[in-house]
Amino acid sequence: MNSKIAYLPGDGVGPEVLGEARRVLELCGRIYNRSFDIVEGDIGGVAIDKHDSPLPPPTVDLVKSSDAVLLGAVGGPKYDSLPGPKKPERGLLNLRELLGNYANLRPVYVYDALADSSNVRAEIVRGVDMVFVRELLGGIYFGTPRSRDDNRALDTEVYTVEEVRRVARVAFSLAQSRRGKLTSVDKANVLESSILWRQTVNAVAKEFPNVALDHLYVDNCAMQLILKPKSFDVVVTNNIFGDILSDEGGVLVGSLGMLPSAAIGGTAGLYEPIHGSAPDIAGKSIANPIGAIASVGMMFEHSFGLPEVGTRIQRAITKAIDQGYRTRDLMPQGSVNISGLTLATTRQMADVIYKFVENPDA
Ligand code: NAD
Repeated sequence: MNSKIAYLPGDGVGPEVLGEARRVLELCGRIYNRSFDIVEGDIGGVAIDKHDSPLPPPTVDLVKSSDAVLLGAVGGPKYDSLPGPKKPERGLLNLRELLGNYANLRPVYVYDALADSSNVRAEIVRGVDMVFVRELLGGIYFGTPRSRDDNRALDTEVYTVEEVRRVARVAFSLAQSRRGKLTSVDKANVLESSILWRQTVNAVAKEFPNVALDHLYVDNCAMQLILKPKSFDVVVTNNIFGDILSDEGGVLVGSLGMLPSAAIGGTAGLYEPIHGSAPDIAGKSIANPIGAIASVGMMFEHSFGLPEVGTRIQRAITKAIDQGYRTRDLMPQGSVNISGLTLATTRQMADVIYKFVENPDA
């Protein structure tokens, strides 16, 4: 069966990590007898340079005709002074809106051998296995009115019942397939939009009697994620809280470069590592490719109905880590010379993972 995949590397470390993810994608296609038509497009800063738009018409046409989208990262200092609608990040927001992907799944899984790589104590992070479900198409990133003059700026946090209900259902279903626990995060002690959020989540809970639901205020959640991260199974929250809290996941697992994501619910799934373009390390071949490679596993699960590919990729990543391979971000305290550990470039790390995906018993 042939599927079309839009391949959008973007800016900074995006092309570096996505090139490695593409190799694993093609390998898994061969192993599982799926053929892919992978078509490259421009997004973000590189699209601004070439087409004067962060999401130019050829990319819009490409993603509209694709079964899935694989994306690297967008943005960089060169574009920071552009007006809002022209910024690289707006290209990504517009892409999510175009595809209609309202639910963003961000798994945070601490690989046992990496428990020491986190700044949080190993006994606290070892065994963490949770998923953020971030609402992706509403809230303050899209709300209007929105304005700024020299003296005053305005953004709008806005949600409808239906926007909350549909993402809540995704989160409850996911919790049902895991450990049966859902935490909804809001700021219902202060925000009207959060009161509506909480009421709606409580109403949806009646459809899922097997799921234990609790609610946390976002400030408390930020603290509990560091104090008791193992207490979480699935967390559902709005667009901006999900954006911020899931970066804490990067601290738990040892590096932001580890985390994959899937944006689902629309016409075609969008798969990307959660990190940005990392301009501080771009072009040095030291970026961690694991978040991008694991995003390929999520693509097979959610777009192609093959969750076993995700499992195979995760096992390969586990083996690479167990054998001591580390990109620089995973080296304890930034050291490069630790017995039992091998400092790997982006390519070397990906090569080891590739080998174990190809031959799990190698
Ligand atoms: P960032 O995620 O790019 O980087 C934060 C930190 O994590 C940096 O120290 C970086 O070196 C490190 N890091 C990120 N990815 C890594 C990887 N694969 N391997 C090793 N280390 C990694 O966030 P930032 O510095 O705040 O933003 C840089 C640019 O990226 C900005 O223009 C921002 O708007 C954009 N951004 C884009 C996305 C996206 O494309 N989805 C997400 C966040 C930020």
